[in-house]
Amino acid sequence: MDWTDSAACLSEDPELFFPISQQGPGRAQVERAKAVCRRCGVRQACYDFAIRTKQPHGVWGGADPEERRAATAWARTA
Ligand code: SF4
Repeated sequence: MDWTDSAACLSEDPELFFPISQQGPGRAQVERAKAVCRRCGVRQACYDFAIRTKQPHGVWGGADPEERRAATAWARTA
């Protein structure tokens, strides 16, 4: 068993986590996905996976691509 077996998003439509855009209606979709992540027990493992594997799209671990890019850039300069 790994962390994906306990993901809160297993019972959600996967497309919720991959909006076409981060703007306009896509922004609301991102916020709905993040709300699922907030109640997920494996959020940190998911976030770490997304950072480690450089996931370019979608909401992972409660973070959208822009937030992950910012965190990665910050870590490189810290
Ligand atoms: S943190 Fe979000 S995207 Fe990651 S497994 Fe949990 S619900 Fe799914």
